[in-house]
Amino acid sequence: MPILKPGEEILAGEHTKFYDTQGYLTLTSRRLIFEYKPRGLSKKMYTSIDMLLEGISNAFVEGVRKKKLVIIVRPGFFGKDVVSRLEFSVRDPDSWQNRLTELRKSIPDTQVNPQATGWICPKCATLNSSDTQKCDRCGLPRPR
Ligand SMILES: [Zn+2]
Repeated sequence: MPILKPGEEILAGEHTKFYDTQGYLTLTSRRLIFEYKPRGLSKKMYTSIDMLLEGISNAFVEGVRKKKLVIIVRPGFFGKDVVSRLEFSVRDPDSWQNRLTELRKSIPDTQVNPQATGWICPKCATLNSSDTQKCDRCGLPRPR
């Protein structure tokens, strides 16, 4: 479970997939957080996305038979050259989209501040923990 800041509340959470990575997505009153357990024997959960809601430029539902939640991150929020499109296979994408859109409206744009702790490979969209310098899946060096 993520560590909450004073006054922060958990609004939703479920086991889901971020692209092909199984993990747990949490929405709080301030942040969107995705944690996952890497392959192997490690029991530790890694936080691969920990972003302030201010970083979300848009959230929508995509797909016909298998719907998914798509989040577009504001340009530059995760750093240069990092994919800014996040896809989650949540059970009810419409309700996630509605909540995100509502929350996003209540937050002024001026608070934007990069808060990502991990990084997302621009080539294969694999989540990498913040202490890795090369992509776990394809070996691409971490963009600067
Ligand atoms: Zn990669």
